[in-house]
Amino acid sequence: MSRLISSLTDPNQLYLVSGPCAVESYDQMRAILSQKNAPTLLRGGVYKMRTQKNSFQGLGTNAYDLIKDLKKEFQFDFITEVTDPRHIEDLADFTSIFQVGARNMYNYELLKELALHQKPVVLKRSFSATISEWLGAAEYLSPLGEENIILCERGVRSFDTKLRNMLDLGSVIYLKKNSKFKVFVDPSHSMGLTPYVSDAAYAAVAAGADGLMVEVHPDPSSALSDGQQALNLTMYQELVEKLKVLAPLFNKTLKV
Ligand code: PEP
Ligand code: MN
Repeated sequence: MSRLISSLTDPNQLYLVSGPCAVESYDQMRAILSQKNAPTLLRGGVYKMRTQKNSFQGLGTNAYDLIKDLKKEFQFDFITEVTDPRHIEDLADFTSIFQVGARNMYNYELLKELALHQKPVVLKRSFSATISEWLGAAEYLSPLGEENIILCERGVRSFDTKLRNMLDLGSVIYLKKNSKFKVFVDPSHSMGLTPYVSDAAYAAVAAGADGLMVEVHPDPSSALSDGQQALNLTMYQELVEKLKVLAPLFNKTLKV
């Protein structure tokens, strides 16, 4: 297993993965990495699974050198979604942790391939996956070792339409008591609207989450995807400062 700059194995840390929905430009990423409390666990979509074919699909191969160049200037572990087994080899060059998105949780061939690649995987819950189905998918990754499998609750479909999804914190509470995997929460895709994201993040910490994955953009109004749920850099700073205070109440220390 290749070593992460920041190991994810400490049960007493609260891991904050943050960054934009999609990698858009060098300047966008640089703005996020240049600030105080800059992420060392940096997320960013390179290949985006968009519901609409004509929506921005991610920079694809054009993001590869961009991330490699940023790594010359900044120290961070990069986490990105892998949508196609054919991309794994190339992404592995600059990616520390692979993400499997909600749309691919049931893609067992992709999971089997990732299980061979010696990198931790964040497995997002699919839109209406039961906890059993989610754990079943996680079993496909078991060759990686339980410490390298991270479940991520990102909200499920419900009857309600006010919010993008329904954040199922019950799943977090259940999984912390009944599974061996780390459990993260993505309050951004759960809530879908910026004003609600930070409060959902605090609730996730209280539910026992080992980590959070939060979308951050230096200028959400110009984002090419999911700008409506992104925190700007000021909001990100406030989130970090509050998490530093909150985490110790749950016997954890924040790791940005
Ligand atoms: C994402 O994290 O950018 C994403 C697309 O999330 P999800 O797969 O949970 O929809
Ligand atoms: Mn997104």
